[in-house]
Amino acid sequence: MPDTSSSPKPMLIDGVWVSSAESIATIDPATGLANFEVAAAGAGQVDAAVESAWRAVRQPAWRDMLAHQRAALLRRIADGMDKHAERLARLQMIENGKVWAECKAQVAGAAATFRYYAGVCETVSAEVTPARGNYLSMTQYEPYGVVAAITPWNSPLTMEAQKVAPALAAGNAVILKPSEVTPSPALELGRIALEAGLPPGILNVLPGLGGNAGRLLVAHPGVRMVSFTGGTASGRAIARVAADKLMPVALELGGKSPHIVCADADLDAAVAGVIGGIFEGSGQSCVAGSRLFVHRDIQAVFLDKLLARTRAIRVDLPDAQGAQMGPIASFAHRDRIESMVRGACEEGGEVLAGGRRPDDERLAQGAFYLPTVIGGLGPQACAVREEIFGPVLVVLAFEDEDDLVAQANDSAYGLAAGIWTADYRRAWRVARQLEAGSVWINTYKQLSISTPFGGYKQSGLGREKGVSGLRLYQQSKGIYFAM
Ligand code: NAD
Repeated sequence: MPDTSSSPKPMLIDGVWVSSAESIATIDPATGLANFEVAAAGAGQVDAAVESAWRAVRQPAWRDMLAHQRAALLRRIADGMDKHAERLARLQMIENGKVWAECKAQVAGAAATFRYYAGVCETVSAEVTPARGNYLSMTQYEPYGVVAAITPWNSPLTMEAQKVAPALAAGNAVILKPSEVTPSPALELGRIALEAGLPPGILNVLPGLGGNAGRLLVAHPGVRMVSFTGGTASGRAIARVAADKLMPVALELGGKSPHIVCADADLDAAVAGVIGGIFEGSGQSCVAGSRLFVHRDIQAVFLDKLLARTRAIRVDLPDAQGAQMGPIASFAHRDRIESMVRGACEEGGEVLAGGRRPDDERLAQGAFYLPTVIGGLGPQACAVREEIFGPVLVVLAFEDEDDLVAQANDSAYGLAAGIWTADYRRAWRVARQLEAGSVWINTYKQLSISTPFGGYKQSGLGREKGVSGLRLYQQSKGIYFAM
């Protein structure tokens, strides 16, 4: 659905659609065709957005809005997302290539996130703290004021809802900078929020490059907190700037998650879990189970099943009936995946499935890559240690529980992990020892907005989601009344 209009899509500042001298092009990774030109923010727009956000957040219309009224507004945004679900899903699909069913599910999930934070917003309480004298002491929670939300391309709307909904529920104004690869769902969210009655300036949407708009936003003295989801290198760069500003940051970063299959596991269920865990979304998921650990005794039989299922995955255009895997989100990213698979072979890895582009002529213009399984790698290989963020699974073996835990934790990352076993005692023991922010037992990628989410080690700082996901966007104040 290429856009035929010639002028770039404007950005949203202070409730007004604003153009810019700079623009970025978005490309449909399934076809290689241009989608849209989108206005890209520079220093002038970042300043204007921060100014407008501060003005808006100090207006009585927002500052004095009662929690249940803010909750009603968040619900109206959710209703708007439901109403425009097809359009939101299509925008995501043509910009990052995810299959239609997943795009639809992610829009529904994003609307549910707004509803969840509406509920938290009007039920979460301040506290009266135990007095140690003749006074009444309280803890009150207040917004930072203006916060920046910076999001990646793999699940744009999911991440945007996960940041914008709690930050608004907490009483902030938000400047949202979506990925340069997927700016359109965020612009649409801005439009829906305005339509729902969000005061102008409370949500500004500024597409632009990370090294320009993103960097300027993080460094801006008027931005009091940053919530970032993306790569570990970008997260580290943001944390450095935040250290200089002494500004809080929440960082949801990369992963290299271990997915473990014990000898007593239900092998068919485990195969399905492992396949979904790595190949859903073409492996472009922060929690992708990209390191498979199979007990040595069952490795041969498990691999037979896994490889048969992997080869049967239907890679197709994202809106094709029955498509299970679409393209990689960009051509540049496919190049990177290809080069990492080549590197794995040079380090002694053996491609057991995939390892190349599909033969299908219909897919030749897109950034497609087959689901890939690689065996024979040692623990130091690059493909075992580094996040590939693509449909590439490396297979490793373990002997016993101690060996398993040591290998699984031998990673700079610690975002997620999965274990398949019939022994609930073992599941509990291993889950407690794994250095990961989420652990799944006999399931994988089960995510809920009510459960805090985040990473150990290089996978991030802070936790989004849950009630504490709202507190992430507030600071506490102690208030004392002499009695
Ligand atoms: P990225 O780090 O390149 O970009 C993410 C966002 O940050 C984009 O909007 C980009 O423009 C911006 N950005 C980049 N450098 C910046 C800087 N110095 N200052 C400010 N903004 C900057 O990541 P990506 O390639 O878009 O996404 C893939 C990465 O995101 C993967 O590593 C993946 O694991 C991670 N991710 C993590 C989670 C999670 O919840 N932990 C979820 C999804 C994706």
